[in-house]
Amino acid sequence: MNMAKQKKFNIPRKKGKETNWKNLNRSILWRIKAAKRKKETAKYSAFFQKKLKHCPICNNKQYQTFVIIYGYKYAECKSCGHIFMQPPLDLKAVRHMYSGGKKSSMQDKIYINNENLFKKRIKQIATPKVEYCNGIIKKKGVWIDIGCGVGEMLIAAEKTGWKVFGIEPDLREVKFAKQHGLNVAQDFITTDNAEQLRDADVVSLISVLEHINNPSEFLQNIVNALPRNAYVIIEVPRHPSLSSFVNLVFPNLAYRHIHSPEHLHIFTEKSLATMFSRARLKAVGMWEFGQDVSDLILLAAANASKKESQFIGMIYKLVPDLQKVVDEKSMSDTIFIVTKKF
Ligand SMILES: [Zn+2]
Repeated sequence: MNMAKQKKFNIPRKKGKETNWKNLNRSILWRIKAAKRKKETAKYSAFFQKKLKHCPICNNKQYQTFVIIYGYKYAECKSCGHIFMQPPLDLKAVRHMYSGGKKSSMQDKIYINNENLFKKRIKQIATPKVEYCNGIIKKKGVWIDIGCGVGEMLIAAEKTGWKVFGIEPDLREVKFAKQHGLNVAQDFITTDNAEQLRDADVVSLISVLEHINNPSEFLQNIVNALPRNAYVIIEVPRHPSLSSFVNLVFPNLAYRHIHSPEHLHIFTEKSLATMFSRARLKAVGMWEFGQDVSDLILLAAANASKKESQFIGMIYKLVPDLQKVVDEKSMSDTIFIVTKKF
């Protein structure tokens, strides 16, 4: 990929995010333990499909290995730069992981049954995203969050006047969301049941597409069911980003971004643009942010078996300012993008 041409969207960009890094409690030791858990999960989730013959997004046949994480190979497309697990996970295995069965928990369910953290995440993470969308989408209607988890986005959207509905495969998360008064169905969206989206004004896919075997087809199915001018809000991990570099140099401590077996895709602006044009979506605004610098410092310390100290604390205090630089250069690890069906 021509890295100089990584910027594809000529649309308003919001840069960076106010994050209270302390509150999220990602200490060095916590990160080492999280990586260890990932490694374990990776061992018993290794069910693969046939090797892909081409990039799953742009279909280009040329790719190269980017990094190997816990025995899972990630390839980088030479045309669009998209990173994909090669061979990809078996879809059935993926479904099992996300339906809350035994040995199925792939994500750290850190906030289930943790009321305080749940409230904190609504305030710090979901509300700013909803407010960003409200700045673009003027008329409020029905907002459906696909892969809604415990429902943070739904609660934040409801508070600002949206009628909300959630779809989530994980039983425990559905239960938690329902306990908080949300209307959530335990389900996967497929071509057979996508028609339930026909009245949606907004569909959000927050950290969903990277977990799916064929994100382009999945997105197309969703958009096909939507009325014209409906909005689709997407949040995905981005490549190239500083976090991709962190995974490249510390593959044994991978816990987020390029990490197996959860993430099958890391998107470039170019691969997103290909998916959007195929699905008849037009990008209207994007927000770029990430945890790149925090990750870099924590993993460098963890890799050298260093414990937290006053000195490392001083280095860690640089995170907000350094992250701003990364955001400014469009090298942060997350893209949050608002698109509209045309
Ligand atoms: Zn490609």
